[in-house]
Amino acid sequence: MARLTRTEIERLDRNDPLAHKRDEFDIPGGVIYLDGNSLGVLPRAVPARMADVVSREWGESLIRGWNDHDWIDLPARVGDKIARLIGAAPGTVVATDSTCINLFKVLASALKLRPGRKVILSDSGNFPTDLYMAQGLSALLEAGHKLKIVAPEDVEGAIDETIAVTMITQVDYKTGRRHDMRAITKRAHEAGALALWDLAHSAGAFSVDLAGANADFAVGCGYKYLNGGPGAPAFLYVAPKHQETITPPLTGWMGHEAPFAFDLDYRPAKGVDRMRVGTPPVLSLSALDTALDVFADVNMNTLREKSVSLCELFIAEVEARCPDLVLASPRDAQARGSQVSFRCDYGYPLMQALIARGVIGDFRAPDIVRFGFTPLYLSHMDVLKAAETLEEIVATRAWDREEFKKKAKVT
Ligand SMILES: *Cc1c(COP(=O)(O)O)cnc(C)c1O
Repeated sequence: MARLTRTEIERLDRNDPLAHKRDEFDIPGGVIYLDGNSLGVLPRAVPARMADVVSREWGESLIRGWNDHDWIDLPARVGDKIARLIGAAPGTVVATDSTCINLFKVLASALKLRPGRKVILSDSGNFPTDLYMAQGLSALLEAGHKLKIVAPEDVEGAIDETIAVTMITQVDYKTGRRHDMRAITKRAHEAGALALWDLAHSAGAFSVDLAGANADFAVGCGYKYLNGGPGAPAFLYVAPKHQETITPPLTGWMGHEAPFAFDLDYRPAKGVDRMRVGTPPVLSLSALDTALDVFADVNMNTLREKSVSLCELFIAEVEARCPDLVLASPRDAQARGSQVSFRCDYGYPLMQALIARGVIGDFRAPDIVRFGFTPLYLSHMDVLKAAETLEEIVATRAWDREEFKKKAKVT
């Protein structure tokens, strides 16, 4: 891509239809935040909602809050807000538990729908916890299930009649490479398999079309692009055609048809509610609920256009300024999510030096520096400044200091 002049970059910001959204977020002064793919920033409306939920709803209403403030249906209400962003019908998404736990639940449900098949197909670009959960579930079932891991580009070709379910994360957490959800789901169905998608790096990053792709199950994160806060509740999706036939593996009272009948035997609730397990975390669900309101007036196609524009600008600027950094993300925007990664031998200290200057991205072993682009609160000038800072650190070797080489527990 030809490089833009500073005037052209400023013009992109002036004509940005999402520019006003930045005021809805509380971004610390001096920070350019390129890590919204890992932990989203604080939406301005969240602290007041939290204060209200704690003082008024909990403090004053006490147990009455379950009915008076409809806490009991928060998982469904929040689920419906997420559904709009991922191409799912109302009543098909529930906000609950963590991504790991939700993956366990939908994967177990999927395997039960394909009793004659024993293979779970995934790829080596998946986030390892997804693989770990599949391994643990297979061991628990003691029924000969096995996880088959192929290279990301070999997924479609590896789908055959032995596969029970494809368990694929749409966007690679390291490189940002994006799988073709429609094509893989279609191929899975042709082979009689089910398609389970992890949308951890997709939900809120671009428009996803679960129903259009005919996906069977999906899970995703509340604290990444959805800005729900550290450890926010996650979500899961079950296609309408499976809702009344799946058998949940975790049969808690909140997934019971009549939790307050206190029957001695479990009976699954109607619809996606049966995938709930225990008492919903009202405080963190309320934060996520309010955080999702920033998306209410956002057209996801507009968001995607800006995301591509930010990513393209960053790639062009970094490649021109920092020859040591090698693009690790697909060059074709269509094959990328909303992040850009580079490989660099001194990636860890480089990222620490960047963070020390207020440009926050992250590092993924062994050599990836990773930058997430969140169109709701980033401008093109932010991107230019980030690239300029990166250039200065590389050119002056400012990263080459002991303080930047000490590895922290969380990278
Ligand atoms: C971030 C992420 C997770 C995190 O799961 P938690 O249960 O929230 O720890 C899981 N899978 C993928 C693909 C992720 O990107």
